[in-house]
Amino acid sequence: MPVTLLGAAEIRALAADLDVTPTKKLGQNFVVDANTVRKIVHAARVTSADRVVEVGPGLGSLTLAILETGAPVTAVEIDHRLAERLPATAAAHGVPDGALTVVAQDALRVSELPGEPDVLVANLPYNVSVPVLLHFMEHFPSIQRGVVMVQAEVGERLAAPPGSKVYGAPSVKAAWYGPWRLAGTVSRQVFWPVPNVDSVLVGFERDTDPRGTEEERLRTFAIVDAAFQQRRKMLRQALSGVLGGSSASATEVLERAGVAPTARGEDLTIEDYVRIARA
Ligand code: SAM
Repeated sequence: MPVTLLGAAEIRALAADLDVTPTKKLGQNFVVDANTVRKIVHAARVTSADRVVEVGPGLGSLTLAILETGAPVTAVEIDHRLAERLPATAAAHGVPDGALTVVAQDALRVSELPGEPDVLVANLPYNVSVPVLLHFMEHFPSIQRGVVMVQAEVGERLAAPPGSKVYGAPSVKAAWYGPWRLAGTVSRQVFWPVPNVDSVLVGFERDTDPRGTEEERLRTFAIVDAAFQQRRKMLRQALSGVLGGSSASATEVLERAGVAPTARGEDLTIEDYVRIARA
């Protein structure tokens, strides 16, 4: 039996049956358009050979589109009412036994995932999308690539190159793991309820070789945070607290790393930050 997708009327009926009123707090804007969920799965190039993890499956619209490819899905959902209903929705839509595993947990706290997923596909809860992405990249090295839907400003920031206005700490931290790119826009009209922000798709690939050890990552991220906390200041000032306690000690480390002490945080690539952490 082929997997069938959820329609707009069925999504509302499911929510009514569960007595779920979508909440802003949990970023609950459900996609009610089959073309959009298929577009996301297509952008992520999911095939039956993949093992997918989805964050925030909600009522299951994107989940079913992923399962339609034949790839098994592990879905992490914080709202227990939604998590409990998902297996029945999947079964009623032709999903074979064993293809879907639901983890009823906060994605920010999940520390183990069954099935060693290699692809992340999600319509992320917008208020926690960056922390969820960084948590998953850090804790689940089996994830090799992914496509996620996020608020447009967040997507632009994740994919921003150095020097751009929106380049910030999330851009550099995300780049630790590999390259990120914008992968398409999504109309507000495909959601219920319609959100008051625009959405984009963002794709990423994990680099084959890790950039450094866990200790180096932590040190690099602390330097990135310090650099962007005072993004208008020159690095010798902004980093004085984390590089020896004075602007003179920071200058010395920056020069050793081959980075101009008069540069600003927004000018540096992830490679520059890693060199500072090592210096
Ligand atoms: N994937 C569904 C869709 O496209 O219709 C729902 C997407 S909705 C934008 C975000 C989903 O994430 C909601 O189902 C919400 O309950 C869930 N969620 C919110 N915060 C979460 C968290 N910290 N961990 C896991 N799920 C979360």
